[in-house]
Amino acid sequence: MKTHHFTCIKCPLSCQVELIEDTGTVLEIKGWTCNQGEQYALDEFSNPLRMLTTTIRVTEGILPVVPVRSRAPLPKSLIPDCVSVLSTTEIEAPVMCGQIICCNILDTGVDIIASRDLERRP
Ligand code: SF4
Repeated sequence: MKTHHFTCIKCPLSCQVELIEDTGTVLEIKGWTCNQGEQYALDEFSNPLRMLTTTIRVTEGILPVVPVRSRAPLPKSLIPDCVSVLSTTEIEAPVMCGQIICCNILDTGVDIIASRDLERRP
């Protein structure tokens, strides 16, 4: 048996939730105050997801980089590989907020989009 500790981030109460499992089978979840905390621990154990925010290089822009983000949460385990893909991605200005920078990154079904407008250099 193994106990995993999670801090629920669904509200400011930050309940300390414990998930006890045995070879992948969840035996007990405790420490939560409401059902959201129980589900949060289950999700964190079985398929943790994270939003991705980073920057990518821009050519001919008024700034050298533009902030980008995932349109939806991505599997946490794929975040380093997604960042690696984006570290070699370069686009040409102008950039529009919401513009798709990388479609279906790593076959996750999630697009990476620009978080702001970026004008072209005069
Ligand atoms: S378990 Fe419920 S009360 Fe506790 S932090 Fe999560 S959302 Fe808030």
